[in-house]
Amino acid sequence: MQPICLSFDNGPTPGVTEAVLEVLARRRIPAMFFAVGERLRDPAARKLVERARAEGHPVGNHTLTHGAPLGRRGGTEAVHEIQETDALLGPLREPERLFRPNGGGMLGPHLLNASAAAHLRAGGHTVVLWNAVPRDFADPEGWPETALAIAGAATAPLLMVLHDLPNGAMRHLDRVLGMLADHGVRFLAEPPAECVPLRAGRPMPGFAACVSEDPMP
Ligand SMILES: [Zn+2]
Repeated sequence: MQPICLSFDNGPTPGVTEAVLEVLARRRIPAMFFAVGERLRDPAARKLVERARAEGHPVGNHTLTHGAPLGRRGGTEAVHEIQETDALLGPLREPERLFRPNGGGMLGPHLLNASAAAHLRAGGHTVVLWNAVPRDFADPEGWPETALAIAGAATAPLLMVLHDLPNGAMRHLDRVLGMLADHGVRFLAEPPAECVPLRAGRPMPGFAACVSEDPMP
C-alpha cells in the first residue's frame, strides 16, 4: 500500500482530540491538525492544540468559522477568516503558516477567492489540500471500510482527511490505523507534494484551479 499522511480537521474538540492524540502517540504516528479558529477561544480546546504541537504534530489554520467555502465569500470576509485564525493561533502557528480551506471534501475553485489567494501568497502561506476523504464526518460507522478501500486502491501517496469531531467516528481510529499498519502502510510526517498547491507563498501546479474570482461588490 502507498504511504499515508494523516490529518485531523475541524477540531480541536475537548473529549475527542485527547483520544486521537493518545492513539497517535501509542502508535508513534505523525499527523497534521487543522484547527477551526473560533474553537481556539475555548481555553480547553486551545490546550489540545498546544498538546498536539508539543507532541510533534504540525498545526494549521482551517478558517475562523468553517462556514461557506472562501471561494463563495466576499474578498474581505475571506481574508478575515484566514487572518483572524492566524492571530488566534499566535505562537502555535507553524513557521510554514499552514492553511487548509474547507470545501465539503471537494477540490475546486470554490476553495479560495482571488483576495484570499493574494493574501496567502503575500503572507508566505503553505496551502495543504487532500486526496483521500473517507467521509468520517458523515458516516461515523462506515468510514473505516471506506478508508481501507481508498488505501487499497491508491496508486500514489495519500493525504487523508479525518475529523476530531464528537460524532463517534474516532472510536474506530485505533482499529483502522492497526489494519493499515498490518498492511505495511508507512505514515508520513510531510504532506505529499501534489496536495500542496502553494508553498511558502509560491504557487505550484494546481493553485489556479483552487481560486475563483471575487464576487462583484
Ligand atoms: Zn473542514
